[in-house]
Amino acid sequence: MTLTGHMLIGQHSVAGNREAIRGINPATNEALEPAYAGGSTEHVEQACALAWAAFDVYRETALNLRAEFLESIAGEIEGLGDELIDRAHAESGLPRARLLGERGRTCQQLRMFARTVRGGEWLDVRVDSAQPQRQPLPRADLRQRQIALGPVAVFGASNFPLAFSVAGGDTASALAAGCPVIVKAHSAHPGTSELVGRAVARAVKACGLPEGVFSLLYGSGREVGIALVTDPRIKAVGFTGSRSGGLALIQAAQARPEPIPVYAEMSSINPVLLFPAALDNRTQALAAGFVASLTLGAGQFCTNPGLVIALKGPALDKFVAATAVVIQRSPAQTMLTPGIFSAYESAVNAVAENASANIAGVGQSGNGPNQCQACVFVTEAADFLADHRLQAEAFGAAALIVQCSSEAEIREVTEHLEGQLTATLHLDDQDLEQARALLPTLERRAGRLLVNGWPTGVEVCDAMVHGGPFPATSDSRTTSVGTAAILRFLRPVCYQDFPDSLLPDALKQGNPLQLRRLLDGQREAQHHDQ
Ligand code: NAP
Repeated sequence: MTLTGHMLIGQHSVAGNREAIRGINPATNEALEPAYAGGSTEHVEQACALAWAAFDVYRETALNLRAEFLESIAGEIEGLGDELIDRAHAESGLPRARLLGERGRTCQQLRMFARTVRGGEWLDVRVDSAQPQRQPLPRADLRQRQIALGPVAVFGASNFPLAFSVAGGDTASALAAGCPVIVKAHSAHPGTSELVGRAVARAVKACGLPEGVFSLLYGSGREVGIALVTDPRIKAVGFTGSRSGGLALIQAAQARPEPIPVYAEMSSINPVLLFPAALDNRTQALAAGFVASLTLGAGQFCTNPGLVIALKGPALDKFVAATAVVIQRSPAQTMLTPGIFSAYESAVNAVAENASANIAGVGQSGNGPNQCQACVFVTEAADFLADHRLQAEAFGAAALIVQCSSEAEIREVTEHLEGQLTATLHLDDQDLEQARALLPTLERRAGRLLVNGWPTGVEVCDAMVHGGPFPATSDSRTTSVGTAAILRFLRPVCYQDFPDSLLPDALKQGNPLQLRRLLDGQREAQHHDQ
């Protein structure tokens, strides 16, 4: 497909009228064709008008049609073949093998949401039948279902150009819920965004859906992004990126006459706790596993293990020494964008200049542009507790090991942490009681707790939680990965004393959608057969 450099407003290919962005190959710093002229508020207005016009129709589409739409997007993305992988590779510097895996994950995610939509559990139908004879007052007939919130603005992430971008998790979950989506393309991968955006638009057309179900805009987050978030027809926002970007969107959304939810995933350093017996028994293996997870994808994962916490002593000394040896062998890797590379350099320099932190080991230095050199620092718990800057996320392959002098200090450090996406425990049988004592704190701090694994690699499934307290996300009650992500874009509506013919199908007395309802306090065991 020839890239056009245009936005997609519904089914229309529209040229922007603001400063152009271009993809940059971070491995060479070469600017890629074509230029993508940025959109303006007028384009936001057009996309929002179409999305609003589509909303009431799209949110009531038959479950099967909506599921077929999601499957059709997956098929269209697969149909792009090598062109998509080549472009994403050129724009992100990510290896082809990683991008092939990410495409698989993106399509699996869409198909998983199709299955979720068909299953209908997310409608969470509750029926409390009328009790006209009840004393002292009769009870009305009350029925509840979930409906879509409204058009959703999605800000794609730089570090997952497929799985967290134009047709990524936020888009898939919002479309599954029945929300039209307007994507503000990430400036780091405009061509990849166009290819995927056109795939989604083809699926919209093939499924006979209203064109406003999907639009793709380019341009500065300050103009297009803020205009989107403040448009009264947008009812929720999905975002993955920097803390400052997320906070800007949250503030804009809260300052609206009608504030709306912003589901922003921002910053997490993903603490790893090494308990004494595990550290003693498996020092080398832990060091190797840690460095592998830290340097995966040049450390550009939101679940990157940026903090290690352990008791001071010979075992920890051995771990630090082993880490230094392993990391020395880590080759430098190209980062996603020149901006992310320079942010990484500044973050690493800030820790290096901090008198409380010492370098434990560094990876190999690069010989091309934008190459991430891995780096591990060590500090004392007292210094970590005294200096909040040591908790700042360095987006890339940098980590800090915090040496604690007692169990109490480990608890204090853990208690002191900001909200996290994950917390990892490495433990052997002898460590169980120590670990158990920390669980209440860790549950308050993180969205996912893992034992004897590494936090990178987020399974897309029903039970996954990719979320957590601020600043990991702006709303700890939800997840952005896995089928529970659909709940972010729904709200309950109750229908009281409606005649059956006026009720939506999900709530009709005969249960035509065969949903497992909560009927008069009892969860129906199996589908009704009427
Ligand atoms: P970013 O700068 O926050 O940008 C993400 C998106 O938000 C872009 O589309 C951007 O638009 C928009 N945006 C940024 N600031 C905005 C503002 N003030 N108002 C409106 N829109 C705004 O994130 P990034 O470029 O992907 O990466 C930069 C940093 O984000 C990294 O160094 C890292 O610290 C962090 N990051 C974290 C995660 C995570 O999962 N925790 C993932 C990726 C990145 P423009 O195109 O106009 O910039």
